[in-house]
This record gives sequence, C-alpha cells and structure tokens, in this order.
Amino acid sequence: MSLFDPLSLLFFIVAIGFVILFVLLPRYGPHYTSRLTCPNCRKSFNFHWVPGATITSLMYRGRRNLKCPYCHVKSNYDIMSTRVAKPKKASKAKVKA
Ligand SMILES: [Zn+2]
Repeated sequence: MSLFDPLSLLFFIVAIGFVILFVLLPRYGPHYTSRLTCPNCRKSFNFHWVPGATITSLMYRGRRNLKCPYCHVKSNYDIMSTRVAKPKKASKAKVKA
C-alpha cells in the first residue's frame, strides 16, 4: 500500500487534523476563563476552557453541562457570556482546521 493512495492520504490528513484539534489547540490555543455561579447552591467558581477545541462546545454553542465543584449538581452554564479573561493575542493568523 502506497502512502499516496487516496484512502491512506485522507486518513493521514484526518489524523493530523485530530492532533491539531485535540492536542495542539488545548495546549497552545487561546484559553478562556468563565466565572460561573451554580444555580443550585449559588456559589461561584472558575471554569477554564478552550474555544472550538472540543466537539461539545461546537454542539452546545457556548453552553456547557458542568458539575458544580461544591454541590456536584449538573447544570447547563452559558460559558460564552460569563467569560472573564480574554485569550492571549496569537502571533500567528488563525488557521481553520
Ligand atoms: Zn453548586
């Protein structure tokens, strides 16, 4: 099997894409911090997340189901509008994966 037949080439591209999406972006990409308040116990906590790096954030469009670290009740939080930290300015232009 040659490296350049279409199927293995496609697999190779997908593998690279996965590495960028799940390894490089969470580690080196922009990070956000959201100040969330638990609707159950009214305590607030910080949540760190990486935009676009996870499938769930794409599916929920800025909303995330999270367990409160204090009372461990799962709630749906709007992590987009509760952002407190802006991502560090990237020196490179954004490349769409
Ligand atoms: Zn709570």
